[in-house]
Amino acid sequence: VRVEDKLYLNRYLVDAGRAHIKVRPHTTPSPQLLSLVNVCPAHCYEMNSTGQVEITTDGCVECGTCRIIAEPSGDIEWNYPRGGYGVLFKFG
Ligand code: SF4
Repeated sequence: VRVEDKLYLNRYLVDAGRAHIKVRPHTTPSPQLLSLVNVCPAHCYEMNSTGQVEITTDGCVECGTCRIIAEPSGDIEWNYPRGGYGVLFKFG
């Protein structure tokens, strides 16, 4: 089973307007920030048409990978979603 197929089993409650991860405004992404486009298992990070990295947190599984890579360098700000929001894992 592919990771992408398993991700579709999860459910999310989106906290509209209160993204739990923010990307610091930048003109050129740092190597750490750029790597997130490839390492995020939920493909939340994308390069836009003008070369900046953007995030859509709706499908985030809160794995913390991007936090470990890019929060120490100040490229992102990472917080857990508010209670009741975020990913709901469904097993089986
Ligand atoms: Fe992607 Fe994990 Fe970061 Fe969420 S916490 S945006 S799933 S790398």
